[in-house]
Amino acid sequence: MAEFVSYEDILCSRCRVRMELARADFTYLGHNFHTEVMRCPKCGAVYIPEELAEGKIADAETALEDK
Ligand SMILES: [Zn+2]
Repeated sequence: MAEFVSYEDILCSRCRVRMELARADFTYLGHNFHTEVMRCPKCGAVYIPEELAEGKIADAETALEDK
């Protein structure tokens, strides 16, 4: 996914190791979604870009509530 290219060098703030791209599944309002997030291979911390957390989930919420 092209928009994640600039995140490939993110380091875990705790472990100082490079985070890896991982698939994350989550459930929101009874619907299942998946996205790709940066995850620390050592401690499992997940980095979610602010625009993703606010933008994509807000879009999903709007789409679901529009019905
Ligand atoms: Zn870590």
